[in-house]
Amino acid sequence: AKQQGRNRYNYFAPFMQEATRVRMALGNEMREAVEREELRIVFQPIIELASGRICKAEALVRWQHPQRGLMSPHEFIAIAEHTGAIVGIGDWVFRQAAREAKRLQQMALPEFQICVNKSAWQFRDDGSNYQEWLDFLAELDLQAHNIIIEVTEDLLLDPASAIADKFKAFRAANMQVSLDDFGTGYCSVAFLKRYDIDYIKIDPSFVSNLAEGTDGITLCGAIIAMAHKLGIQVIAEGIETPQQMQALQSVGCDFGQGYLFSKPISGLELEKSIKNQYAP
Ligand code: C2E
Ligand code: CA
Ligand code: CA
Ligand code: CA
Repeated sequence: AKQQGRNRYNYFAPFMQEATRVRMALGNEMREAVEREELRIVFQPIIELASGRICKAEALVRWQHPQRGLMSPHEFIAIAEHTGAIVGIGDWVFRQAAREAKRLQQMALPEFQICVNKSAWQFRDDGSNYQEWLDFLAELDLQAHNIIIEVTEDLLLDPASAIADKFKAFRAANMQVSLDDFGTGYCSVAFLKRYDIDYIKIDPSFVSNLAEGTDGITLCGAIIAMAHKLGIQVIAEGIETPQQMQALQSVGCDFGQGYLFSKPISGLELEKSIKNQYAP
């Protein structure tokens, strides 16, 4: 058995080292990704279900790696968080998102909002570049109301984040807050109340479960009713079929996002889609 164990070790060790080596290399390269202009931003439209119109969009980052090609955030966000590179990346995404919101405002859409993901790690050091963000908005002459910060519940559950105070500052500036991936963790109604969240995003794992005759729709309906009682609006994520959309509409869901409406697209494509839909 010992012999076998050693063989197994010999077999896996180079593989493990390779994975670690790749992570380290990516971590190093990532520090320069912003300066080298290798990051890209895409926007996924968010539709108001009652009107069918695009009224918000979520900013999502991509990394155009010189050797590895276009990389999804799943391949690098976690590494960026652990190396601290997420702060620079997050600032870059925020600025691009704000610029896009400004362009849309200039297309006579004063209410259009762009959602920006902000991971718990970006709140760790108290800098959290919050004032810089507000200064940048002022420079652009853009209302903070045009930006929604998307956070996940690990942030709310992290006592070190002093998050309640930071949320107060956001709200004082009129920036809204959305709770991502709702339903996947331990977040309770009490949390939603305490942090005065503006939106919750129902996780795709609930939306994919909306087939007829399942409890899925009952569950979504209950979440939505509860949210509305607290003055919170609901965005359902990962809508892929008309059936899912109709089911969500039937229980009063406010907004939808997913491949049924659109994949994430460039800023230019977003502007085109919006122009088309508002054209007479
Ligand atoms: P997320 O915030 O939950 O973003 C939604 C993800 O679902 C996106 O993946 C989007 O492309 C994908 N998606 C949208 N519609 C559908 C659908 O109908 N079906 C399915 N199966 N998937 C759909 P993406 O762009 O790969 O982003 C993955 C995650 O990376 C995001 O999940 C977010 O947690 C993180 N992320 C992306 N951009 C940033 C960023 O700028 N900063 C930070 N901190 N995290 C980011
Ligand atoms: Ca998100
Ligand atoms: Ca999500
Ligand atoms: Ca509220």
